[in-house]
Amino acid sequence: MSSPPLPDRLAAVRQQVADAAREAGRDPAGITTIVVTKFQSIELIRELADLGVSDFGESRHPEARDKAAALPHATWHFVGSLQTNKARQVARYADVVHSVDRPGLVDALGGTGAAVLIQIDLAGDDPGRGGAPVEDAPVLGEQALAAGLDVRGVMAVAPLGEDPARAFDRLNRAAERLRAVAPGASWMSAGMSGDFRQAIAAGATHLRIGSAITGPRRP
Ligand SMILES: *Cc1c(COP(=O)(O)O)cnc(C)c1O
Repeated sequence: MSSPPLPDRLAAVRQQVADAAREAGRDPAGITTIVVTKFQSIELIRELADLGVSDFGESRHPEARDKAAALPHATWHFVGSLQTNKARQVARYADVVHSVDRPGLVDALGGTGAAVLIQIDLAGDDPGRGGAPVEDAPVLGEQALAAGLDVRGVMAVAPLGEDPARAFDRLNRAAERLRAVAPGASWMSAGMSGDFRQAIAAGATHLRIGSAITGPRRP
């Protein structure tokens, strides 16, 4: 069974994003689709860039570094869990780091001026996936501002086995709490191939969509 070609998959997702935005009473222009290209080739990324994609997401260093070097004019989002000892290297090429979730990582990024999102753990009982508890959003945000970071908003992955709409409600609460200390933190990075419609309904500004556009990953 072969899947449709890349331009068709991209066009279909763009249409679905626009439809979901209109259904939610939102302007599709207020939503950025980041295409997550982890494990995908540089050739595929170039093809996407030729189709007008400007924002790419990667989750592993140094794979992300090499891809960003190959397409320096694209906007690169680091969306994976980040080890403290790699943080400064990642900040050199990532335009935005989505996965800042603990004080040690804020310290490690201190002084780089990096644009960051505070990653929130929406599962609560699954510390392996990364993310800070909802109630920690303001203290991490304050710490990040004090470290000279550009605090843009929140990011999360919806947990398995729960209605994503409910999980994204908690993300909205975290976003509100963060904005109490960082009023400019307007981004909500949420929504993947399986739940971007619910994320759009919840107010997501940045979707992170991989396989629905790229097809399956081959790790
Ligand atoms: C891989 C990944 C995505 C994209 O997932 P798909 O289900 O392929 O759309 C989004 N966000 C993060 C953090 C990821 O690691």
